[in-house]
Amino acid sequence: PDLKAKKPNWLRVKLPIGEEYKHVRGLVDTHKLHTICESGNCPNMGECWGAGTATFMILGNTCTRSCGFCAVATGKPDPVDWDEPQRVAEAIFLMKAKHAVLTSVDRDELADGGSIIWHNTIKAVKALCPNTTLETLIPDFKADREQILRVAEAAPEVISHNIETVERLTKQVRIQAKYWRSMETLRILKEAGVRTKSGVMLGLGETKDEVIQTMEDLRNVNVDVITLGQYLQPTKRHLPVDRFVHPDEFKELREIGYELGFDYVESGPLVRSSYHSEKHVFKGYGR
Ligand code: SF4
Ligand code: SF4
Repeated sequence: PDLKAKKPNWLRVKLPIGEEYKHVRGLVDTHKLHTICESGNCPNMGECWGAGTATFMILGNTCTRSCGFCAVATGKPDPVDWDEPQRVAEAIFLMKAKHAVLTSVDRDELADGGSIIWHNTIKAVKALCPNTTLETLIPDFKADREQILRVAEAAPEVISHNIETVERLTKQVRIQAKYWRSMETLRILKEAGVRTKSGVMLGLGETKDEVIQTMEDLRNVNVDVITLGQYLQPTKRHLPVDRFVHPDEFKELREIGYELGFDYVESGPLVRSSYHSEKHVFKGYGR
């Protein structure tokens, strides 16, 4: 169905303008960085960039995977840029950010899965901005223990890995990924003592019961923080929106999430994995 004409008013957002927005825009451009905010056509750019927050995407802007919901280009990535960690750190320093979010494309073609650049980037940010907290949204690293622990060792405050959808739809939504392999990645992170976070997009064809089941599975590997948001189709070539989930259902799922024992549940139509990320860093910000 063509749901475009029917886009409900709770999904309308403000246009990105203002001084702080321009400041972030300038830093991203001069440091030749990529942001998931732009690649993902995120509806919150006005709010987040206006508040001096952006989600930097490291390891280039070409991904070896081709998830059906994602606007990042698929193909053969550029060679690893070993200066990137320093440029990311400088941009975060110049933003005077109290908190920053890092994510990356998947680099399945690299022997280390990109984990060395991940480690170096976190270390570079920590060295230049010792007071800046970090959320790092990482790939599954095919559940490779060594690679995952390499990222954990660099000690970002929170490490997230998004399960994105329910088990039944995983093949359709994240073709090269596996539901239980992603759970294993989260399990290894928790075993290493990391504060963990995951996210689910709604409106891809899942039922509410399946969402609750996914939340239970995430709690079984002791994930601390969960984000639930509406899936929006980035282009016509991406998976269609199956339904627009009503804000009341997001509220209900938030309650259920707290009952299941999550420390923080971010749930609403405009929620993206990095939305309000600064509140997810320390225990006890939740209800
Ligand atoms: Fe960027 Fe995340 Fe904010 Fe969207 S919600 S603008 S991706 S920081
Ligand atoms: Fe997009 Fe990540 Fe999937 Fe790559 S692995 S296509 S960046 S969601």
